[in-house]
Amino acid sequence: TISMAVIDKMGRVAVGTSTNGATFKIPGRVGDGPIVGSSAYADNEVGACCATGDGDIMMRFLPCYQVVESMRLGMEPKHAAQDAIARIARRFPDFVGAVVAINKNGEHAGACHGWTFRYSVRNSAMKDVEVFTVLP
Ligand code: ASP
Repeated sequence: TISMAVIDKMGRVAVGTSTNGATFKIPGRVGDGPIVGSSAYADNEVGACCATGDGDIMMRFLPCYQVVESMRLGMEPKHAAQDAIARIARRFPDFVGAVVAINKNGEHAGACHGWTFRYSVRNSAMKDVEVFTVLP
């Protein structure tokens, strides 16, 4: 899955997700990619979240909606991301997945479970992307 969050000069927030789906998926499977709040969610007042991983499990928790709502209530992106992943891991200790949270100020953080996850960031002041590694 490639999930992306963008904040424009006006402060408008958008997300998008592209995925080939799960390996060996059955024909007709609808994964988490097209489910709003599962693999991506954005709100101009708060920020955004992107996710990747075991969509069949993650879609039950709408982790990106959870992250954005946690940030709305005052959580830092790091804490919001870790909380959303922990909610899934408590029920499904073997799941593999990650989320990236970014608030409307551009502060970002990732959290993951079951793998080491990398995401990249670029803003208008940067000449190239910076890659961040998130340990489980
Ligand atoms: N979330 C995707 C799916 O389950 C897979 C992925 O993130 O690579 O369809």
